[in-house]
Amino acid sequence: MRKITAMATAALIGISTSSMYANEDKNFNYVTDRFADIEVLRYQVPGFNELSLQQKKLVYYLTEAALWGRDILWDQNYKYNLPLRQMLEAVYLNYDGDRNSDEYKAFEKYLKQVWFANGIHHHYSNDKFTPEFSREFLEKEVAKLPEGAYTPVKAEIFEAIFNPAVAAKKVNQAAGEDLVVTSANNLYEGVTQQEVEDYYNALKNPSDPTPISYGLNTRVVKENGKVTEQVYKIGGLYGEAIEKIVENLSEAAKYAENDRQKAIIEALIEFYKNGDLKQFDTYSILWAEDTDSQVDFINGFIESYGDPLGMTGAWESIVNFKNIPASHRTEVLSKSAQWFEDNSPVDKSFKKDKVKGVSAKVITAAILAGDSYPATPIGINLPNANWIRAAHGSKSVTIENITDAYDKASQGNGFNEEFVIDQPTTELLEKYLFITDNLHTDLHECLGHGSGKLLPGVDPDALKAHGSTIEEARADLFALYYLADPKMIELGLLDNPDAYKAEYYKYILNGMMTQLMRIEPGKDVEEAHMRNRKLIAEWAYRHGQKDNVIELVKKDGKTYIKINDYEALRNLFGELLAEIQRIRSTGDYPAACELVEEYAVKVDPAIHKEVLDRYAHLNIAPYKGFVNPVYHTVKDSDGNITDIQVTYTEEYPEQMLRYGREYPGLTR
Ligand code: ZN
Repeated sequence: MRKITAMATAALIGISTSSMYANEDKNFNYVTDRFADIEVLRYQVPGFNELSLQQKKLVYYLTEAALWGRDILWDQNYKYNLPLRQMLEAVYLNYDGDRNSDEYKAFEKYLKQVWFANGIHHHYSNDKFTPEFSREFLEKEVAKLPEGAYTPVKAEIFEAIFNPAVAAKKVNQAAGEDLVVTSANNLYEGVTQQEVEDYYNALKNPSDPTPISYGLNTRVVKENGKVTEQVYKIGGLYGEAIEKIVENLSEAAKYAENDRQKAIIEALIEFYKNGDLKQFDTYSILWAEDTDSQVDFINGFIESYGDPLGMTGAWESIVNFKNIPASHRTEVLSKSAQWFEDNSPVDKSFKKDKVKGVSAKVITAAILAGDSYPATPIGINLPNANWIRAAHGSKSVTIENITDAYDKASQGNGFNEEFVIDQPTTELLEKYLFITDNLHTDLHECLGHGSGKLLPGVDPDALKAHGSTIEEARADLFALYYLADPKMIELGLLDNPDAYKAEYYKYILNGMMTQLMRIEPGKDVEEAHMRNRKLIAEWAYRHGQKDNVIELVKKDGKTYIKINDYEALRNLFGELLAEIQRIRSTGDYPAACELVEEYAVKVDPAIHKEVLDRYAHLNIAPYKGFVNPVYHTVKDSDGNITDIQVTYTEEYPEQMLRYGREYPGLTR
């Protein structure tokens, strides 16, 4: 269990709040595209113009290194995604028929979905998209394309698009099935789950105190009947794209803010050259310990949600710089980390005696790439290796220009009127949800994930497929519990002892009801963060039932959440936190199964239908993502960069096509 990204919910589901954000352009146009279940937004990069020229150059080359990795993720997601994208784009560009016809519109929608998901599977549900245009239409258009405009694997691509039985699910998590064989992603080829597990079990040494992140940068295949790993590195798998990443990292290193940052970039380059996961740990330690530089970035194979066995990292990059004034909030929390650990409602034997290196900051994203684009997390906590976190600390960030964009784009969308029970609650949300939601993310990332410890000898992967859900629940509960603590007032982070109620209300509403709008009728909740939220909300509802803590109120045939006793709700969160920490610390897999299966997975069909119906009237997109800003170099007559300028006018299809054209990491 190593993967940790957070996604706050208010912003994603569209609760509107009022934010306080400096330097904002009041006329900024946040929404740029809308199709299927997706809304594409823009974000601003406030503070970029105030960076020094050296920092701007550093950011610029890091963004280039980020964009060059795009094709890697496409290929990781599914083996025919890249030729498929090229074929669809060729049709899109060469089409000479009626662009307003239903068939063309359906084709365009499909391409936009594929762009958004970095492949043919939905970025969140992992289900394959269903085209609403005919096979004949595409065949006819492809036949018209000029020679060389598409690829030799045409037949496979058509099957992938049109045959529902082919590559149906990117990541299959259904218990009891062979998760490797039934997942369509491109992380394994010709091997069974058992073979993969046997392979890694033979490599792992259970008593190694500093294990590498096995499989993080490899594809597992069978060669001559033998299971083996193909390594992502220069000269190995994805070598072409990695060369371009390294080229730009090398440029970036010239403009590092300090020697330590230069060493970090060089360590990463070394890892891309040799593919050695020990070297990745070296890099991760350097990275985790650098809390001084203003500009920062992640670039590599990081989160393993895309692997049903949770091992291989999806390629991603985020380049960012510290928002110094806003970081005050997380610094205050970090400084009190030990107090939070000592006072949590968790059994003493599961607590850390010394909470190490909890570092946290609020950042401004400058580019989103790979697995963080266009859909992106709003908080990050890395590195993922448990032993590095314990020995060297971790870095935790809240990406506030992204949360702000979500928030701005959702204003006036009618959500509050539809789902929030009454006017006083709406006012509470409008007043306090933006700050409490951000604080929730801060607490989740910089204290929640870092708190607690495993008992000696407990396997970090003991909770297996439920590890992610339990880990996210642990961090969320830690955050929920402390949001209501007087310590928040004492630290000056909130100015009203009732402010936390805004987050509590939204959390329960989302966990029990509104997040269900992301699930198709008849399906279970599968994604770890969603499971975690449902687990917490349903558990609190049922355990508070005898005291009527949370009530489901019917008005005009509609269901509303009413919270009757916020203090009791806080105690319930504390109680569940203690139990979840016990499960994690002791590796109690049966207890994890029981909690997840009882509260997190199954959906009440009646409430589900109601939520979908009510949402349908609002026309709010369940998922949102972003186009990136564009960075332009300004050069003098000798070709030296004298400034970097940022613009925000690029449209979604324009950006996708340009990325394909200008950053063909694996498609040259
Ligand atoms: Zn998390």
